[in-house]
Parts: sequence; C-alpha cells; structure tokens
Amino acid sequence: VPNLKIEDLHVSIEDKHIVKGFNLEINGGEIHAVMGPNGTGKSTLASALMGHPKYEVTQGKVTLDGKDLLDMEVDERARAGLFLAMQYPSEVSGVTNADFLRTAINARREEGNEIPLMKFIKQLDKRMDLLDMDQEFAQRYLNEGFSGGEKKRNEILQLMMLQPHFAILDEIDSGLDIDALKFVARGVNDMRSPDFGCLIITHYQRLLNYITPDKVHVMMQGRIVKSGGPELAEKLEAHGYDWIKEELGIED
Ligand code: ADP
Ligand code: MG
Ligand code: MG
Repeated sequence: VPNLKIEDLHVSIEDKHIVKGFNLEINGGEIHAVMGPNGTGKSTLASALMGHPKYEVTQGKVTLDGKDLLDMEVDERARAGLFLAMQYPSEVSGVTNADFLRTAINARREEGNEIPLMKFIKQLDKRMDLLDMDQEFAQRYLNEGFSGGEKKRNEILQLMMLQPHFAILDEIDSGLDIDALKFVARGVNDMRSPDFGCLIITHYQRLLNYITPDKVHVMMQGRIVKSGGPELAEKLEAHGYDWIKEELGIED
C-alpha cells in the first residue's frame, strides 16, 4: 500500500520561515484535505513536496513508500509515483495535449514497454468523456489559450492518465464554476483505490461536498492545528476559522 509520511517539516522561502513543523501520514486508499486561511503556508507545503527549487526544506523528513522523497530530483519524485501537476514545458510549440500526455506516460514506463497507441487513445477518450471535455481538446497545442477551467480539468485528465500513487492537489477548485467543479471531483473520485492516496489542499469547503475526504486537517501558521473527519470541513464552512484561533489561543 502506498504511504506518504511527513515528519516535522520546516520550509523557508526567501529566508522566511513558513512551514513550521508539519506532520502528516497518508496511506493508499485515503484522501486527506488540508484547509486553512490564506497565507498559512499550504502552497508552500505543496511546492516543497513537489521539489520546487525556490522552497528550502530546513528541517524534517518526508518518505514516499519508505524512500526519502526530499533526496530525490523532481523527475525521480514523479517516477517514484508522485503526481506533479501541470508540468507543462512552458514554451513548446507544435506539441498537442495528447502528444504531451503520451510522452509523460511513456517516460514513467520501462523502455520497450511503451503504451500502445490504440490503448492510449481508448483511455484518453474514456477519461475525457468522464470529465466532459471536448474531444477537440486533445488535439489543441499546449498552452495555447487554455482557460483557467480548462487547465484544471486538464490537470485532472493528466492525473487520470498517469495513474500516480500519490497526488497533492493544490486549489484545484479555485476559479471553477459549479459544473466544472463537479467534473473535477468526478475525476478525483474515479481515482479512488487502495493504490492511490491524495492530499487535497483547499481554502473552501465547497469542493469537499463532492469529494468526501477521510480526514480533514486545519493548517494555521505553518502547521496542522486540528484534525477531524468531513464534519470539520462543514463546521469551517459554517463558522469560519476564528473559533479555532480562539480555541487554541492563536493570534494573527
Ligand atoms: P497559502 O497557500 O496557505 O495561502 P502560501 O504558502 O502561498 O500560503 O504563502 C505563505 C506565506 O509565504 C505568505 O506569507 C506568502 O507571502 C509567502 N510566500 C509564498 N510564496 C512566496 C514566494 N515565492 N516568495 C516570497 N514569499 C512567498
Ligand atoms: Mg494563497
Ligand atoms: Mg495557496
């Protein structure tokens, strides 16, 4: 069973200490949500786990299936089974979305074991259908006029095509209308299996109406201050974050 374990993680950006002792363990089959007010370090956490070079891990340990994640280069993290969203080559022309996906899939396979073209096309068709994406989208060139909503759906399409063991999805709900949100949620729900673990990072509870997390964690000032089940997200929706601050004696 896949396992992601984060222990006492500290992350700095430009010498600012942002993530301050973050602990979390996720097993295959589980979806965890991390929620929190703006500026508490959620995206910093995600970026550090994905290996963004600007984010400096100053303390702590992260293992993916028992292997030291922080020791790995970005592409090694991907090959180890971590999903890295939106890894678009930023200035590539003449590469269609379908080409890019097939290249990304084959890069994670052994040489000589590339995905057969027909199988790829079948899977792509099926998943685009599930996400309510227009077939034409597969033949569009990367980065050419994707709307915000199209980018998010495409991120979930990548997730479904790559079938990673772990995904960290940061604000996949931002800027989506309710229909797009439902399709994005449908894609994540379709991934649910014992072979897949997921960390959903979100400011709003709305997404969690469509993806029921196993655990909900509240992040404040760089660490988890409270954990619970889905009912915790509902309470945050109804009452905001202030009651937690009061309960814990946290000041802004
Ligand atoms: P959240 O995702 O919870 O809203 P972030 O991780 O984006 O929080 O930001 C946490 C803090 O780190 C904020 O104070 C933000 O200004 C700072 N920060 C994040 N990214 C950068 C960056 N690239 N350069 C400088 N400061 C940053
Ligand atoms: Mg933010
Ligand atoms: Mg953020």
